[in-house]
Amino acid sequence: MSDVRTRFAPSPTGYMHIGNLRTGLYAYLLAKKNNGKFILRIEDTDQERLVEGAVDVIYNVLKLTGLKHDEGPDIGGDYGPYVQSQRKSIYKEYAEKLVDLGGAYYCFCSKEQIAEARGKHGLTKEGAFKYDDPCRYVSIDEARKRIENGEAYVVRQRIPKTGATAFEDAVFGSITVDNNTLDENVLLKSDGLPTYNFANVVDDHLMNISHVMRGVEYLSSTPKYNLLYNAFGWEIPTYIHLPHIIKEGGKKLSKREGDASFEDFYKKGYLIEAIINYIALLGWNPGTDQEIFSLKELEEQFGIDGLSKSSAMFDVKKLNWMNSEY
Ligand code: GLU
Repeated sequence: MSDVRTRFAPSPTGYMHIGNLRTGLYAYLLAKKNNGKFILRIEDTDQERLVEGAVDVIYNVLKLTGLKHDEGPDIGGDYGPYVQSQRKSIYKEYAEKLVDLGGAYYCFCSKEQIAEARGKHGLTKEGAFKYDDPCRYVSIDEARKRIENGEAYVVRQRIPKTGATAFEDAVFGSITVDNNTLDENVLLKSDGLPTYNFANVVDDHLMNISHVMRGVEYLSSTPKYNLLYNAFGWEIPTYIHLPHIIKEGGKKLSKREGDASFEDFYKKGYLIEAIINYIALLGWNPGTDQEIFSLKELEEQFGIDGLSKSSAMFDVKKLNWMNSEY
């Protein structure tokens, strides 16, 4: 593999559970294994979901575990991570570009108007959107005049009404989705800030990310991301979606419920190497009987082929065993 560039793109919305850390670890390992670059990007544009102190938790956990990023803005001789809230003007510029390219349109409807129209029209039996936003038919010139006259607007993704979007995921295989089941989401909000989805795609492109590794909850949004890549004429990265980690009872780990926090284990005295070892094997099969790995060994042996499609069960007994083996 040449020029492997991966990223860990956490949103600072809480503490870091071992599932969040697993995504970062795998992205780091894939980069290291292929002499590539590992990038850290803080996705903090959604101000309402930000949790105070959560950015420090991310830095602290990555520092403790040794998952150092390889590039970023210069902060006094070291690399800082990329921070989306410091890149706002970039997203606005790309939203304008996308309108010119036909992949988005200015929408002047209020939230209430949209909600009402959707409520009335809903979905067809086949799950397609019935609501057809009138703003998608307003010419760009006319829309820009309205904006100059002070009308409030958002930029919305323009999704083709027909056809399908297909892509390949390295873990979940081929996926095809009918375009008319994809909603035309907001990309740039009325305050000029990007939505999470838009900033994510723009940055993955600008940061030259070759392999996008993230939780399976983003799999259903991926067709929309691909339509954005296509509209811009950008190359689509390799997608690697990771299944959930579940706890006893079958529920997935949740930040909000305070499940399996890395820092809690660390504070309880678990060895960092043991936690990393445990996390690495939570969804990755090395293909041998080896169960105890150093970070260096993981860097040498990790590969996408060993990733599992099934959810992994968080098992504290196994973690305890590994901790005792170190
Ligand atoms: N910012 C997202 C999160 O923390 C991750 C998105 C991604 O990796 O594409 O859940």
